[in-house]
Amino acid sequence: LRSLLFQEMSQFKQASPGLQEVLPVSADMLATALAQKQLSVHFQPKIVCTTQQVVGFESLVRWQHPERGMIFPDQFIALAEQSGHIAELTRQVFDLSLAWFADNFLDTDLKLSINMSPIVLADAQFPAWVQQACDHYGVAPNQVTLEITETSSMENPVAALEYLTQFRIKGFHLSIDDFGVGYSSLVQLARLPFSEMKIDKMFVMSASASIESQKIAAAVIGLARALDLNVTAEGVEDDWTLQFLCDLGCIHAQGYFIGRPMPPDAALQWIHSRKS
Ligand code: C2E
Ligand code: CA
Ligand code: CA
Ligand code: CA
Repeated sequence: LRSLLFQEMSQFKQASPGLQEVLPVSADMLATALAQKQLSVHFQPKIVCTTQQVVGFESLVRWQHPERGMIFPDQFIALAEQSGHIAELTRQVFDLSLAWFADNFLDTDLKLSINMSPIVLADAQFPAWVQQACDHYGVAPNQVTLEITETSSMENPVAALEYLTQFRIKGFHLSIDDFGVGYSSLVQLARLPFSEMKIDKMFVMSASASIESQKIAAAVIGLARALDLNVTAEGVEDDWTLQFLCDLGCIHAQGYFIGRPMPPDAALQWIHSRKS
């Protein structure tokens, strides 16, 4: 399975060298963005594959730059991690996300997923901070899932177990993001307190065109189920793929075919128009 994943990934990388040209951002610009509250969050819905019922939203950070317009996280998360701004960025993301969620979904079964950098994960003060933030907005920890990338969470499995357990005992759910891209051993994976596995969109997006991606998706779904993890496919861009994943026993799905990441108000409109 591992070598199949790597093969598929390197093909994908070669096929899209430097997909888009972008202006670099600096640590100073980021500091200004944080001080002036230029960050916002968009919300992407997540559904049950079989019934298409909405189960929650994932929050995805956006930078509304006064001159450049919207800047996407792939262009500034790594910089935030390297320049010491990731803790403040994460706090602002949690505040924005929890406030929106609390305003609209407090008495529902919907869940909120938030991406969490490994650096923040290893910060000993964060579990208490996240819990306080949830208390402040009245959001129960078990309504919140922290998404952590596979590579980062597995680098030091002993430490990871320690950090992850701190969140788990407070009631937060933990999700392995981008599964299939990292290097973790399956043994380590099985021992960490995750409740969800997200199949990387690379495999999902290419499933309709690639037998190999189909096999990887099938293997990952089988693995997740064997480990008793909820499995979510991200990057579902068409009807065929949603049906294909459903047939394989995938539980949840996200992707442009279902709903794009949307600004807070648009996400509310989206869910209300779906209900009626
Ligand atoms: P991710 O967590 O794997 O999020 C999924 C990415 O795929 C998002 O990109 C989303 O907009 C995009 N996506 C969703 N559905 C589809 C689809 O059907 N097709 C395609 N082509 N793309 C789809 P985005 O928003 O640019 O975020 C990129 C990455 O930045 C995220 O990947 C996550 O790792 C990171 N990120 C986003 N927000 C935060 C945050 O608040 N904190 C941290 N630490 N990282 C974040
Ligand atoms: Ca994610
Ligand atoms: Ca992902
Ligand atoms: Ca990703």
